[in-house]
Order: sequence, then structure tokens, then C-alpha cells
Amino acid sequence: MKITSIKAAWLQVPIPEEKASVSDFGRNVSFNTTLVLVETDEGLVGYGEAKATVGSLGNQRALVSTIEQELAPLLIGQDPRHPARLWELMYSGSRAQFALSRGRVFPILGRRGITLSGISGIDMAVWDIRGQSLSAPIHRLLGGKCHDRLPAYASGGWADERGIGEQLLGYVRQGGFRAVKMRVGVMDGDVASSVRRVRAARQALGDGMELMVDAHGTYNVTEAKRFCREVADYRLAWFEEPVSADNKRGCAEVRASTDIPIAAGESEFTRFDFRDLVELRAVDIFQPDLAICGGITEGLRIAAFAETYQLGLAPHMWGGAVMFSAGLQLCAASPSAFIVEYSLLHNPLHHELVAEPITVKDGQVIIRDRPGLGVTINEDFVKKYTVG
Ligand SMILES: [Mg+2]
Repeated sequence: MKITSIKAAWLQVPIPEEKASVSDFGRNVSFNTTLVLVETDEGLVGYGEAKATVGSLGNQRALVSTIEQELAPLLIGQDPRHPARLWELMYSGSRAQFALSRGRVFPILGRRGITLSGISGIDMAVWDIRGQSLSAPIHRLLGGKCHDRLPAYASGGWADERGIGEQLLGYVRQGGFRAVKMRVGVMDGDVASSVRRVRAARQALGDGMELMVDAHGTYNVTEAKRFCREVADYRLAWFEEPVSADNKRGCAEVRASTDIPIAAGESEFTRFDFRDLVELRAVDIFQPDLAICGGITEGLRIAAFAETYQLGLAPHMWGGAVMFSAGLQLCAASPSAFIVEYSLLHNPLHHELVAEPITVKDGQVIIRDRPGLGVTINEDFVKKYTVG
């Protein structure tokens, strides 16, 4: 089997004004992603998703161009059933033969950033093809199911002190969630305001519900430590990205100051960034985004780190249904996976991009056994929302 073409499309789906949320990233007026299509000479096609930003917004034009102009030519004519080999071809480019023969990486430059996002999207698509070629779900190729279902947490929580309780309870009513995540950090103005919002959230939710907070990396170290101290009584399940991903030592300092579990990883690329998080003892929970970190191939290596160092795995799954399915495949086969993210922002990429609905029942996502990623792309939807 040979790869005959690799195409990418920037999808931009508008969010109605009344449903748009506001955070430190700005007003979420649209949901954006890059859909990757890999075609083969045997008629099988695979889909992947790549992201130019961790959030919903962001121009994807350079990412589309990286995939089609830089990465695709490296793989045309290659057999898509060997994703680990293809990963080396993309990461080390013209020096890939050394990577494959010497057993270490030889990147030509694109070690991070949109090059890695592009690699991620293509990697996902070739795993999709590999699974379909064997009539097997990807999780079966990754070692088989450790989990038949996983709890999902409702990811949202932008409202102010007065509205946050009702907003989070609304999520609980929608899908029977037992865990919810809210945003904190610089968008609140100061630490005291964030603390008041967390207190209001805990009071509304009562004791039986898990509550996580996400600062999007926006505190400095002293603010993050103060926040941890002041919310110590509200039983947070984790504190996500307390400080910038560029300040891993600072993240370790925050972790050393608190017994609230620290989660991070959505802004990291490759196993090498996650190795640094481990070595610095910066986190308790890994959150790789498979549309950013290097795809399923790299996700497997990151999950192995989590298992080796006894950390939790809770991938960043804020995006479209394709990357959600990829994250679910990895979680299914990873003992360290314990919960999955389910975005509660208005997001047609979750619900309309593919024919198979992502359903949460009693707060759980069922892991299904359809071949490959198990998604059927809605081509009319893709046509309608592709940015020309
Ligand atoms: Mg986050």
C-alpha cells in the first residue's frame, strides 16, 4: 500500500454571539482546526487533526502549507502502515536515514511548533489507515483495552463569581458529569477574584463533585503559590498549567508548595518536553494534545513515561471529533489514563464533523471498537466550513 496524496484544510466554524465565551485567549467567536486527509493507492483514506493553537481560535494557513508543501512530499509513495517509520521521516527530513540507522533523532529544524502539529495530524491519519487495513480499532493495535469506558469531565467554566455555580451545574445536568473544570488566572484580574470564583463553584457543586481549575499558564510563580494556599480547602482535583510552559522549573516550585495535583502538557511538543517535565518533577498529570505533541506515535511514548513515573494521563481533548477519537484510542490502551476532557463550549467540530456522535452518559464515555479512528467524516460540513 502506498500514500498517493496528503491534503489539509483549515476549518473555521462560527460560534453564535450568545454562545461565545471570553477568556485570556479572547472572545471565542469561532472554532478552528486543520483536518488532514491521507489517501492511498488501495482506496483506503485516513483522517487526522492538527492544531495551530491550543485553544479554539487561530489562523491555520501556515499549518496547512507546512503539511501540504513540506511534510507531504516526504511521505508520498511510502507505506502508511508503518507510522513509527513515517514519524522519523517527517521529524528528521533529509537526515531520516541517519535517524533510522543510528537510533536517535536528526531534526533539520522543525523540532517544535506547527511542524510538530503537522506531523501530529498526518500521524493520526496513517494510524487511521493502519487500523482500517487490519479491520481493528487503533486501541487494539496499541496493546488492547485497559478501559472499556472512562469518566469524562465537563470542560468550560468562564462565568464570574455570581454565575459560575449555575454554569457548572448546567454542565452536570447536560451529561451527568461527576467532574467539571473551570478557568482561572489572569482573566480574573487578581488571585483574590479567582479564589472567590472557586469558592462559589465549590459551594454550588457541593462535596460530591470533582472540580478542576485551569490557569492557561497565566500566573507567575508567587501568584500560583498564593492561589494554591487560598483554595486549599476546596478540594481541587487538579490545578492545570499554573505558570507558563516556558517556566517548567517554576511549575515544579508551585508543585513543591502544595498537595493539589499539578497538570500540564497541552502546550508541549514531543516526548522530549515531557521528559523535562518528569525530570524537573513539575507535574502529577500529563496532558498531551495528540494534535500538537506528535500524534498517536508520540502519545504512546508520552503515556509510557506516565506509567513509568506513576503519573496520571488526561490528554488535552479540546478540539474536533477526530482528535477526540485519537485521544480516546490512546486512553483506552493506557493504564495511566483516568479521565477524558469533554469541551462544553459550543463546538460543531465535536458534534457535526463526523457521523458518529460523541456521547457522554452518566458522566462516562464508552470506548467503541470501530476500525481505525472509527470516524466517518461529514464531507458537506468540511466543504461548508473550509477557509479558502
Ligand atoms: Mg488547559
